[in-house]
Formats: sequence, structure tokens, C-alpha cells
Amino acid sequence: MINLQKAEFLRSAAKKEDFPRDGLPQVVFSGRSNVGKSSVINRLLNRKNFARVGNSPGKTTHINYFRIDGKFYLVDLPGYGYAKVSQAEKARWGRLIQSWFDDPTLMSLGCMLVDARHKPTADDCTMGEWFKATGRPFVVVANKLDKLKKSEIEPNLQRIRETLEIDDSVKLIPFSAEKGTGRPELLGELAAHLGEELR
Ligand code: GDP
Repeated sequence: MINLQKAEFLRSAAKKEDFPRDGLPQVVFSGRSNVGKSSVINRLLNRKNFARVGNSPGKTTHINYFRIDGKFYLVDLPGYGYAKVSQAEKARWGRLIQSWFDDPTLMSLGCMLVDARHKPTADDCTMGEWFKATGRPFVVVANKLDKLKKSEIEPNLQRIRETLEIDDSVKLIPFSAEKGTGRPELLGELAAHLGEELR
């Protein structure tokens, strides 16, 4: 049993030498800035303000590592797609993320966040390609589900699948960090990949 209460911030990594490589599984979260990544992580851990919500958009060049009950790392990749970020910073972001994805042993499970309301952006598609290229399992989490009308849910999920070109082997989890929708499903995926229940 993995106790989600036992979550601690480990470090902010700005270069690959800072990535932990002690063999603990790493569950990585990615998404464009403002998709609700911090909110999803907080919801998952049942914490308020653990991962900082509404992060200042300048903080794009660090990967935040959390250690959960000594059983796995929750890896918070910096958000992408924020319009006001300089070219230099985008390049730094790219190098950092690339160096993380370059080592496929790092990722045990990927959680790629997209906005349930919108067609995935070109940046989302690029991120999807990086996930696919690892050959490791990943899930797509469609957040802000509460903002959709019921009739919009299925077509939007279909459009997300088609745009990201993911087949049925990749789970697409409708999620609302606001309401808690999808939390059991996402925890179930983590449990399946970590080989232990989470509570
Ligand atoms: P991040 O930049 O990806 O870490 O996004 P944040 O977690 O800071 O969230 C960005 C904004 O979206 C905040 O105003 C959140 O309150 C809001 N938000 C996040 N998740 C949801 C959700 O599931 N539903 C709704 N309605 N708003 C959300």
C-alpha cells in the first residue's frame, strides 16, 4: 500500500545530473501551462497547494521531483506553450525535456495532460510524440471535464484521440481536478503500473 499522504518535495532539477536515478519508478506529468497540472497533482494527492497552482509562467526550466512514500517519484515537467516565454527560455525548456526523455529508463508511466475542451495543440502533439518514442506506457488525462456539456464529452474525447493519434492501447481518462472526476481511474493506472494500491 502506497500512502499518498507521505508526499515530500525532493528537488527542482535544472539539468540531467539532477535527475534521480536510484531505480525508484518515476511517474511523469506533462501539459501545457494552465492545463491544470498542479491542480491534477494536488487532487491526486488530496492536497491543497502541494504543487503550486497558478505558477508564474516564468518557471519553465525546472523539473520538480516529489517522492511519494519512498515508493515512487512524481515528476512534474514544466508546462509548455505559454505565449509570453522568450525564445531563449523555450530553447532551454526543450533541452531540459529532451534530456529527460533521452533516457527512457527514467519513465515508468507517463501522464500527459490535455484540456478536455480543446483540440490538442501542435505542442501537445509534439509532447505526445515524445511519450510514444519512449516506448513506455502512458495515459492521456483530459482535464477540466466539468467545463463541458454532457453532449460535448464524447466528441471531444474522440477529437483528442484522433489529433494525438493514439490508439486504444493508450487510456484516455476524462478528469476534473475541480470535482475529482477521474481520480479513481488515474489512481488505478498508477497502481497497475507500480504494482501496489495507492491510498
Ligand atoms: P498548471 O499551470 O497546468 O499547473 O495549471 P493550474 O493547476 O495552476 O490551473 C490553472 C487554472 O485552471 C487555475 O485557475 C485552476 O483553478 C483551473 N483548473 C485546473 N483544473 C481545473 C478543472 O478540472 N476544472 C476547472 N473548472 N478549472 C480547473
